[in-house]
Amino acid sequence: LIGSQTVDRKVDSVCPFCGVGCQITYNVKDEKIVSVEGRDGPANHNRLCVKGRFGMDYIHNPQRLTKPLIRKAGVAKDEALLEGKQDWSDIFREATWEEALEVAGGGLKKLKDQYGNKVLAGFGSAKGSNEEAYLFQKLVRTGFENNNVDHCTRLCHASSVAALLEGVGSGAVSNQVNDVEHSSMIFLIGSNPTANHPVAATWFKNAAKRGAKIVLCDPRMTDIAKHAWRTMQFKPDTDVAMLNAMIYTVIEEGLADQDFIQNRANNFEALKENIKGYSPEAMAPICGIPAETLREVAREFATTKSAMILWGMGVSQHVHGTDNARCLIALVSITGQIGKPGSGLHPLRGQNNVQGASDAGLIPMMFPNYQRVDNPEAHAWFEKFWDTPLDKKPGYTVVEIMHKITAPDSDPDKIRGMYVEGENPAMSDPDLNHARHALAALDLLVVQDIFMTETALLADVVLPASAWPEKVGTASNTDRMVQMGKKAINPPGDAKPDLWIIQQIAKHMGLNWDYQGADDGVAAVYDEMRQAMHAAINGITWERLEKESSVTYPCLSAEDPGRPIVFNDKFDTKDGKVKLVPADIIPANERPDTEYPFVLITGRQLEHWHTGSMTRRATVLDAIEPMATVSMNGEDMTQLGVSAGDVITVQSRRGEVGIHVRRDDGTPRGVIFIPFAYYEAAANLITNSALDPFGKIPEFKYCAVKLAKGGQA
Ligand code: SF4
Repeated sequence: LIGSQTVDRKVDSVCPFCGVGCQITYNVKDEKIVSVEGRDGPANHNRLCVKGRFGMDYIHNPQRLTKPLIRKAGVAKDEALLEGKQDWSDIFREATWEEALEVAGGGLKKLKDQYGNKVLAGFGSAKGSNEEAYLFQKLVRTGFENNNVDHCTRLCHASSVAALLEGVGSGAVSNQVNDVEHSSMIFLIGSNPTANHPVAATWFKNAAKRGAKIVLCDPRMTDIAKHAWRTMQFKPDTDVAMLNAMIYTVIEEGLADQDFIQNRANNFEALKENIKGYSPEAMAPICGIPAETLREVAREFATTKSAMILWGMGVSQHVHGTDNARCLIALVSITGQIGKPGSGLHPLRGQNNVQGASDAGLIPMMFPNYQRVDNPEAHAWFEKFWDTPLDKKPGYTVVEIMHKITAPDSDPDKIRGMYVEGENPAMSDPDLNHARHALAALDLLVVQDIFMTETALLADVVLPASAWPEKVGTASNTDRMVQMGKKAINPPGDAKPDLWIIQQIAKHMGLNWDYQGADDGVAAVYDEMRQAMHAAINGITWERLEKESSVTYPCLSAEDPGRPIVFNDKFDTKDGKVKLVPADIIPANERPDTEYPFVLITGRQLEHWHTGSMTRRATVLDAIEPMATVSMNGEDMTQLGVSAGDVITVQSRRGEVGIHVRRDDGTPRGVIFIPFAYYEAAANLITNSALDPFGKIPEFKYCAVKLAKGGQA
C-alpha cells in the first residue's frame, strides 16, 4: 500500500460494503485506488473494518467486464457452467453498446408488445446508489408497466420492515447505532455484529466498557458474547417463545409502563390476553433458556434507564420473521423503551444501500417512501408525477418471480423477460436448483454487472457496469443517514455508469427521459427522487450533501439538522400510536427428522460479503478466507468422525454441497452454519424457499439437512 502523502489525489466517499456506512477517502495514484482511509463520519469516526480498509482492490481485478457481451447463437444455458467458470469466451461474444442495448432494451419491449405488460420483471440493487434504485423502479413501473420490481431487501429484512410499517408506521430505525452511547442495556438478537457490522460492534463494545449491559440472544454464540452481561443461546426457531416469555414477565410482574401503554399504544389487551400461555416456566423447555434467566433479563429490560434492541437476519429470515419483529416492537412499547435517547428499535441493515433502495421504491408493493401502489391517493399522485398510467396491482417479490418464470404458459402472469441490475439471484436465492433453472428458462435475461456473476452466465446479454468508486451517487445507511460518494476513477474499458445504462434501456423501451446537469444528470435524478419521497428528505438537497457529506432523515427543510431519534412523542401511524400485534408460535417450515437430523443456518462472515462477487475478488480478503467452510460443534465432529479441514457432504431435500469442516463450539450441537458467499459450495443449493407470509422473506435461517463424511469440496 502506498502512503497518502505520495498519491495523486484523494477522493471522499462511503464504504461500498455493509450498511454501517463508514465514510472513507480513496487514495488514487496512476488512476488506481491504492489505499483507503477512514474519515470522521458520524457512523465510524475514522474506524474501518477489514473490508472497508483492505477490500477495495476488487475494482481493479482483471476479471472486470469491459465490453458488452451477447450470448453466442446456439450456446445452451447449461447450469453446469456455473461451477467456477472463469473463461466465458465460448459462451459470449463481444458487442457494441448499440447492438447490446437493442438486444436488451429492444428485446424486453418486444416481449411486452407480444405478451402484454405482465411478462417482465426487474431486480435492482442495494449495492448501487439511491438514484439508480429510484430510476430502476421508475423504469419497471412506467416502462415495463407493472410493479414486478424487487431487490435483496426481500432476502434480508423484508419481514422486519413489514412489522415496523404495521406497528410504528415506518420501516427504518428509531435510533442510530451510535445512540447506544446513551443505553444502559443493549439487547442484541439474531445478529453477529463483529462479523457483519464490525464498526457498529465497536460502539457496542465501547458502551459495554462504560457499563452498559449487553444481552446477546442467538442460537450461535459469537465474538460479541465476550462483552455480554447475559447470553441467551436459545434453540433455533424459538424466538417467539423466548420473547413472549419476556413480555409475559413484564406484564405479570407489574413492570409495564402504564402511562406509555395508555397514551401511546393500541391493542394492549389483545397482547396481554395472547401471552397468557407463555410463562417463562412453560417456555423454558421450548426455547432452552432457564425461566430464571428469562425473568431476570425481562426485569432488567423493563426497569433499566434506557434499552435499545438491535437485530439482524437471525430474526427476519424465518417463516415467522414478521412475528419475531412484532414481539420486539411489543417489548420496547410495553416498557416505554422507545422514543428517547438510548432506547428504541434498530434492524441492522445488511448492504450499503438496502435502506436507501427500499426508501426509493425498489419494492413491488410500494412507490418511493413506502406509499402503497394500491393506495388510490398515492397511485393518483404518481400517475400525475410521472405523467403516465400505472398498474395498481402490487408486483411479485423475488422468490415469487422465480416461480412465475416456471409457471405454465396459460398463466397470464408468467414472466418471460428479466432485467437484473447488480444482483446475483443465481447465488442469493433459496433453493438454487430451482432458481437457476428458472433464470435459464427465461426468453430474455439481461444482466448488468461489474463481473461475470453466476447470474450473468445465464444471461442473453451482459452489460458492463461501474463499481461504486467509479461514479457519483448517494446511499442511505442503516442509521437513515443519506451520504454522498464521489467518483474517484473512470470505469475500465467500455464499462458505463449504471444510471446511463438504465436510461438507455428506458430509451429502447420507448421512454423519453432527459436527465441533464450537474454530475451527468445524477443530481437531477436525485432531485426528482427527493420530490417523490415527499417530505422525508425534503431538506437534503444535492448541494447540501456536497457540503455536509451526510444528513439524517427525516429532514424537512434546509435548516432542519435531521432527526437521529424518532417517535419522541408520536409514531408514524395514522393515530400516532404504536400497534401491538400478538404473535403465536409457528414452527419452521421444515423441521429436522430422522432422515435429515441437523439444522442448517446460513449467513455471512467478516471477510466476505453476500454472494462473494466483490470480496472474493479482493486480494487480501480472499487470502484470509479463501474457501468455504461449514462451522460445527466439536462434539458433533467427533460423533461424525471428522476433524477440522476434512470434507463432508451436507445434503437437504433440495441439493447438496461438499465443504470443509471448521470447528466452532459457539454453534450448538445439532446445528451447522454455512456462509453463502462461495460458488464452490453454494449454501443456497440446500436452503428452503418457504416464505414468511407478510414479508415474503425465505427461511434462510432454518432447514433440515443430513451430513456424511467425505465428498467433493
Ligand atoms: Fe465498510 Fe461496514 Fe466495514 Fe464500515 S463496517 S468499513 S461500512 S464493511
